[in-house]
Amino acid sequence: MAIPIPSRQLFINGDWAEPLLKKRIPIINPTTEEIIGDIPAATAEDVDVAVQAARSALTRNKGKDWAFASGAVRAKYLRAIAAKIKERKPVLAKLETVDCGKPLSESEADMDDVVGCFEYYADLAEGIDAKQKAPISLPMKTFKSYVIKEPIGVVALIVPWNYPLLMATWKVAPALAAGCAAILKPSELASVYALHLLASVFITCLELGEVCREVDLPAGVLNILPGLGPEAGASLASHPLVDKISFTGSTVTAVKIMTAAAQRVKPVTLELGGKGPIVVFEDVDIDKAVEWTIFGCFYTNGQICSATSRLIVHESIAAEFLDRLVKWSENIKISDPLEEGCKLGPIVSRGQYEKVMNFISNAKSEGATILYGGNRPKHLKKGFFVEPTIITDVTTSMQIWREEVFGPVLCVKTFTTEEEAIELANDTHYGLGGAVVSKDRERCDRVSKLLQNGAVWVNCSQPCFCQAPFGGTKWSGFGRELGEWGLESYMSVKQVTEYV
Ligand code: NAD
Repeated sequence: MAIPIPSRQLFINGDWAEPLLKKRIPIINPTTEEIIGDIPAATAEDVDVAVQAARSALTRNKGKDWAFASGAVRAKYLRAIAAKIKERKPVLAKLETVDCGKPLSESEADMDDVVGCFEYYADLAEGIDAKQKAPISLPMKTFKSYVIKEPIGVVALIVPWNYPLLMATWKVAPALAAGCAAILKPSELASVYALHLLASVFITCLELGEVCREVDLPAGVLNILPGLGPEAGASLASHPLVDKISFTGSTVTAVKIMTAAAQRVKPVTLELGGKGPIVVFEDVDIDKAVEWTIFGCFYTNGQICSATSRLIVHESIAAEFLDRLVKWSENIKISDPLEEGCKLGPIVSRGQYEKVMNFISNAKSEGATILYGGNRPKHLKKGFFVEPTIITDVTTSMQIWREEVFGPVLCVKTFTTEEEAIELANDTHYGLGGAVVSKDRERCDRVSKLLQNGAVWVNCSQPCFCQAPFGGTKWSGFGRELGEWGLESYMSVKQVTEYV
């Protein structure tokens, strides 16, 4: 069934605007490899207009507008946005699936999370005012101090393509709850590839603009500017009127953004890549552990920043574990992601597909064994599909052990002692998500403490709740999104001290 792709412009100052240079980017369905529409590409000129609009949204009406509105007023808008997204869930989920190839059931779950996240930050926005002017206890009675928290100002929100609307929501909802005005820059995918290979993944992000119009969000509070990273993204990161950058994407791009931010001493929050471990001890229920291993690495077609893509399994159960892992993998349904029961769709674009295939062939040439998968599935004639792939005989110097693949590729190593397992788990520049699987409670606590990750999952992998903080250590970035930490990251703290 063909899904009608809405034709949209840039969303600036509360309305649709044609890009000043009239540039557009094609959208390619990764399942059919067909161009299914196009979307506008913002340039530096459009970025400037949007930033000015955001700036004035904070200061219009002699300070009575967005930044100075009560938390309850901002909460009302966030709830209205959540309700509109809920109404549109079936359409939005389908759009996201044709756009980025993830199974429809997963896109539907993402839309539920989007709604939940807007509602959660509406709740937090309602509580903001009651927490203002918190007194500070001072050692001298002649002074009185209190703290007020203020929106940071105009924020640039730059997001990747693997969860287009959800990653945007993780930033937009807390930024608006805090009273900031925002410019959202969705992904266009790697612009290093030739234009015909580009698959633009931001239709759903643009639909958020239509939702904002319908709920009458004050003009300029949220602006949405798709465009190429080195063009729209870079001019946003270096714009003098942007007060903060919150970025989710690759470590390579993060370095560029940090460099631009440093020129004007702007704060940044960085949510970057990962190469997460899942450590499986000898006392586990093997089938359950296999199920979490598969989920942790192959969900969203393996395109998850926190994927646990390095399996570290106790030597005494490794043979049996791998045997069952292969059997489970054989039963993963690979198909058009709109098809009922699909568990693995295509990789998002030809460029990413080629990157994943290169990782697999490099692993082979470095001496690793492809235990399962490693190819394009033969039953599908079109689309950027990669079989779920399990790689053994891996050494810690191999590329497949060290670098993020961002595809359904699991590499495996065995261990004999707990110390060895922890050393292997931490043997990476990254530190986003990690998992430990064991029936021994104390061991799980010990290992959780020693894993150098921003998130540790015990007897599971990947569950993510908007109430809990999310972020990384090492090359996976710094700062936290979600929970109260996500809201705080869009607020600055001011102390007021009075002589009495
Ligand atoms: P990317 O770094 O190529 O692009 C991310 C965003 O940055 C896009 O919107 C892009 O247009 C923009 N961009 C590119 N160059 C820019 C520049 N010079 N200045 C400003 N902006 C620029 O990453 P991607 O390929 O879209 O996403 C995949 C990466 O994102 C993976 O490494 C993945 O692990 C990571 N990721 C992290 C999380 C997390 O929460 N930690 C979540 C999802 C994805």
